[in-house]
Amino acid sequence: LVMPLGQAVGAWTQLQTGLGALARIQEVLVLEPERDDVPEVPGAGTGAPAAPRVPPPGTPLLELDDVSFAYPDGTRVLDRVSLTVPAGSRVALVGPSGAGKSTVLALVEGFYPLTGGAIRWAGTDVRELPRAALRANLGYVEQEAPVLAGTVRENLLLAAPHTTDDELWAVLADVGLTGVVQRSPRGLDVPVGDEGVLLSGGERQRLAIARSLLARPALLLLDEPTASLDARNENLLRETLAAAAADRALLVVAHRLSTVLDSDQIVVLDAGRVVARGTHAELLETSPLYRELASAQLLV
Ligand code: ATP
Repeated sequence: LVMPLGQAVGAWTQLQTGLGALARIQEVLVLEPERDDVPEVPGAGTGAPAAPRVPPPGTPLLELDDVSFAYPDGTRVLDRVSLTVPAGSRVALVGPSGAGKSTVLALVEGFYPLTGGAIRWAGTDVRELPRAALRANLGYVEQEAPVLAGTVRENLLLAAPHTTDDELWAVLADVGLTGVVQRSPRGLDVPVGDEGVLLSGGERQRLAIARSLLARPALLLLDEPTASLDARNENLLRETLAAAAADRALLVVAHRLSTVLDSDQIVVLDAGRVVARGTHAELLETSPLYRELASAQLLV
């Protein structure tokens, strides 16, 4: 009796594990299909997917129009969110933890289908655009930015294989990594990750930002790191963002208001809804939630 009972318990455990895996696979399967089969944008020639048009500075580059969203497990996260990122401008998303800020970036990246509303690139619904072409214009730097094993040079050249050493050093300076790379006798060929330098979360993210900047995306999506920034690196990040914004648009999820005080527009999200928008000075006047966030961070 004991043997078959033991086997039955083992089989039950296996079944539970299998069901868990199946649920995860289903979650992946409901993701939107890749849209690379969508015809290229008109007049764009043939061959590799054409990059969608980048409109003139100041006109809408990215628009979220009444976007609602629930995760595949049914968690409703965004409720009719609208925001516009004009070409060449800096927009920040702020709000309490769990408000849905990172989810907005995931949707712009096309990781999940929308529950309602639309996302447009230069006026065209992104569902009409080939995903590869859209991604060619988007740089996305997550909080836990992936850094490859390999060297600093390999990590950077991944984005732009023909970059010269001078350009690599220039972008490392932009993100404040010159010192840490110069300290190694191997310079740009110093390994990163477990065997080399750049082990801190902040450094990894700045290397990922450098990689994104080299790819010259029209829009950089950045999920600001929470824990990994000390005050000095936060200043560096702020300067990097200001430099990056010189010739591209930025949509930054900010956990620290201090990194985005000078944004052209700050959008305040609370429980999946836009509750206020404006500049830092305007929001201090108009938004009690923004004032609360700012005073919690000793900014007022
Ligand atoms: P934080 O400032 O803490 O990073 P956030 O404003 O970026 O928060 P999101 O990470 O977008 O918020 O999460 C919004 C809500 O969605 C949270 O309630 C979160 O638990 C939920 N959520 C996030 N990712 C998933 C997922 N993959 N599946 C289900 N729910 C999720």
